[in-house]
Amino acid sequence: TTASDPTDDATITERKPIAAIATPVGEGGIAVIRVSGKNAIEKVNEAFRGADLIEKESHTVHFGKITDAQGDVVDEVLATLFHAPRSYTGEETVEISCHGGVLVTQAVLETILALGIQPAEAGEFTQRAFLNGKMELSQAEAVADLIHAKSAKALDSAHQQLEGRLGEHIREFRQQIIDATAMVELELDFVEEDVEFANREQLRELLAELEEEIDKLLATYETGRLVKHGVRTVFIGLPNAGKSTLLNTLVGKDRAIVTEIAGTTRDTIDVDWSYEGLRFILTDTAGLRETEDVVEAEGVKRSQKAFREADLAVYLKDLSREPTAAERKDIARFQKAAGDTPFVLIGTKKDIALDLEDERMDYDLKISALEDEKIAELKKLMKQRALENKHYDASSLLVTSSRHRDALQKARQNVQSALQALDQGMTGDFLSIDLRSALKDLGTITGEITNEDILDSIFSRFCIGK
Ligand code: GDP
Repeated sequence: TTASDPTDDATITERKPIAAIATPVGEGGIAVIRVSGKNAIEKVNEAFRGADLIEKESHTVHFGKITDAQGDVVDEVLATLFHAPRSYTGEETVEISCHGGVLVTQAVLETILALGIQPAEAGEFTQRAFLNGKMELSQAEAVADLIHAKSAKALDSAHQQLEGRLGEHIREFRQQIIDATAMVELELDFVEEDVEFANREQLRELLAELEEEIDKLLATYETGRLVKHGVRTVFIGLPNAGKSTLLNTLVGKDRAIVTEIAGTTRDTIDVDWSYEGLRFILTDTAGLRETEDVVEAEGVKRSQKAFREADLAVYLKDLSREPTAAERKDIARFQKAAGDTPFVLIGTKKDIALDLEDERMDYDLKISALEDEKIAELKKLMKQRALENKHYDASSLLVTSSRHRDALQKARQNVQSALQALDQGMTGDFLSIDLRSALKDLGTITGEITNEDILDSIFSRFCIGK
C-alpha cells in the first residue's frame, strides 16, 4: 500500500514549516532544533552564516552561525539537511545542532521562529510523518510507547510495533475481509439472475478463520497490558509481617532506578521494580482491614482499591508467630477475594521461624528477607504467577493499546454477525454491511480510516519536538 511506502513522492504534502527543540530541556553537550515543512531550508538559510544551504545536497551537514535580525551571532551550529521525502516527516527538514544550554537553545529557537516559522505542537512532527504516509498510525503510536517505555519488555514490544508487525497482521485481516466482501458483492451484482456466486461454505470457512485469528491477537492484550504498564502487585499481611522489609529487599539492588510514584499517601506506597525485563509496581498496603477511624478508613479504601486492581496478590505470614484462627480466616478471605487474580502465600522470617508442623498452612514459599534466603525463588515465582495463563513468548506480537483492543473487538463482533447472517441464509447485502464495518474497524488501527478526535488524542501524548 502507498501508506507505508516512504519513497513515494506523490504521497508527501509539505505543510507550512514548524520548529521545536527536539531534545530534552536541560544542559547537555548539544541540543537539536528541528525545522520541517515547505521551504524549511530556504527559511533557515536566512539566519545562517556559512555555507549557502539552498545549494547543498540532502543528508549533508554544514557548519555555520545562526544570527538574529540585527546580524548578531546567537550560536555556532551544525545544520543537517534532509530533502523531501527522505526525512522523518517526509517534508523538507533542517536539524540544527546547537550548544546544549537552556538559554542558548531557546535563543536559537526564537531566532528561527522570528523568521516566520510556527512553533510545533506536541507530536506534530510524528503526526506529519503519519499524514505523509511515512508510517502507519500504529507505528506512530509505537514512537510514543518507545519514549515512555519503562522496562526492557515494554521497549521490545514498542520496537515490534514500530517495525510495523501489528500493521502487517491487520493488513492480512483486511485482505481476508476484502476477499470475502468481493465474493459477496459479486453475488449482489448478479442478483436478478438469481445466481449464488459466493460459495457460502468457503465464505464461512474464511470468516471463521478470521475470527479465530482476531481472537488470538486479542488474547495477547492482557499480557500486552502487563508488559506495557507493569504487573500491579500488592503485599498483604498483618502489621509486622515483613512487608516493607521484603519490598526493600526486592528493590534494594536496583535502588537507582526505583522511583516512588507520586500521588499516594502513607497508606499505600508504590515502587517501580523490574525483574528480567518485566516491570512490577509493588504496593505495600498498610491497612486493608475494617476500622472505625475516619482517617484510617480512607487508607483502607485506598488499599482495598489497590487489592481489587492488582494483577498479583502476595500474602505475607510471619513464621515466627503461631497463626491465629483470625489470621487463618484472614488469609482464606483474601484468597477468595482474589478470585482469578494470582495469589501467593509466603511465609516470612524463616530465619526465626517457630518449629511448627502446620498442614493447614499451604505456603508457596518460605523466605527470609533479612537473610536474603529464597528471595531469588520468590522473584521467579512472582513472574511465573503473574504471567500464568497468559500467552507469553518473548518474540510474539502483543497488543498493548486499549485503542487497538477496542477496534479488534468491534471487528470481531462484525465478523461474528456476518457469520450469523450467513447461517441464517441472509442475502449478500446484509453480509456486506457487516464485512464493511469490520474493514472500517481494522482500518482505524493502522490509520487507513481515521478521524480528528483519534489523531488528537494519540498525538497529544507526545512531547513537543517529537
Ligand atoms: P510490615 O509491618 O509488614 O511492613 O513489617 P516490617 O517489614 O516493618 O517488619 C517488621 C519487623 O520484622 C521489623 O523489625 C523487621 O526487621 C522484622 N523482619 C522483617 N523481615 C524479617 C526477616 O526475614 N527475618 C527477621 N528475623 N526479621 C524480619
